Amino acid sequence: MMISTRTIAQVILSLSSALFCAAQAPTSTSAPAKPADEEVALHAFAAIHPIDVHVHVFRADPAFKKMLERLNLKLLDILVMDDTLPYRKQLQPQIDDALALMRSSREHIALCTTFDPYKFDSASFDADAIKQIDRDFAQGAVAVKIWKNIGMEIKSNGGQYIMADDPKFEPIYKDIASHGRTLMTHQAEPDVAWGPPDASDPSWPYYQENPQWYVANQPGFPSKQRILEARDHVLANNPQLRMVGVHLGSMERDLDNIASHLDKYPNFAIDTAARMEYLMLMPPEKVRTFLIKYQDRVLYGTDLDLAPDANFPDVLKDWQSTYARDWKFLATGETLNVEGKQLHGLNLPQPVLQKIFRSNAIRWIPGL
Ligand SMILES: [Zn+2]
Repeated sequence: MMISTRTIAQVILSLSSALFCAAQAPTSTSAPAKPADEEVALHAFAAIHPIDVHVHVFRADPAFKKMLERLNLKLLDILVMDDTLPYRKQLQPQIDDALALMRSSREHIALCTTFDPYKFDSASFDADAIKQIDRDFAQGAVAVKIWKNIGMEIKSNGGQYIMADDPKFEPIYKDIASHGRTLMTHQAEPDVAWGPPDASDPSWPYYQENPQWYVANQPGFPSKQRILEARDHVLANNPQLRMVGVHLGSMERDLDNIASHLDKYPNFAIDTAARMEYLMLMPPEKVRTFLIKYQDRVLYGTDLDLAPDANFPDVLKDWQSTYARDWKFLATGETLNVEGKQLHGLNLPQPVLQKIFRSNAIRWIPGL
């Protein structure tokens, strides 16, 4: 094997930066380079009192709570009705667990509730949904989520896929707006779900594990455009309703499209959940310019989850390495290695970071 002088120089450089980082991070005196490096990033992340507006937490755990305290971190815990996962199938037990979790850690966990879209054809569907949502608001919920099963899974009695702009949902949206609460929308999926297999797409592994959401070659399946247009109708029909389009509003490969949506709909913002890697793959100058221009409209989210059967402490390592990676990407000019690619951090100005990691969340989701 050939070892070039450049490689040796890199080794020396990374060793010296590891020592520097270790010196700055009191908890990692004997830690290898990466964790020490991570510790520095997490320290800066914690200093901003970050809010992650997109997580799914299904259990209470003292070590998890400690991590939240150490990182000064607030989470928006989002409920989803998913008939393919046992612990997401029933709504009320999820609400009860989430409320208990919220009460046990009020300064660190807030609740985004949902309603049961599988009951779409029930005569009292919207009245029941509104009653339940209002009860959740009264108990502290600050937002409501709709998920991709609207548009991509649930069919009405007539056999049509139900869409987000169906008139049956309108009273629910009006109710959320009248309470001054926020609607979080996960509509459609990344482009690759409709396209040919693409191992280079950051979401591709997800479709290998969840083939039910890979919809290419399904004749008659709604197009992504149709689903997002239904979402856009909700924005246009409800100017008083604040909406956060999660996962970059499902426009993960097209910053220009996101920008034109943000220009057109003043009640629309996006979160970064599970789509940071798409930003990392784009030309950095373009992403940086976009984030500075729309610094009031982007909320930091991850889509991290803490499942009932989560494997401790590995799961905590995952959470922390995601936060460290995202912080390095947005806040520093450091070199990152993502999926085998080297890239440079965007080094965003501090006031922009303050908005993305914290104050936009409070402005767009009051009560957080
Ligand atoms: Zn999610």
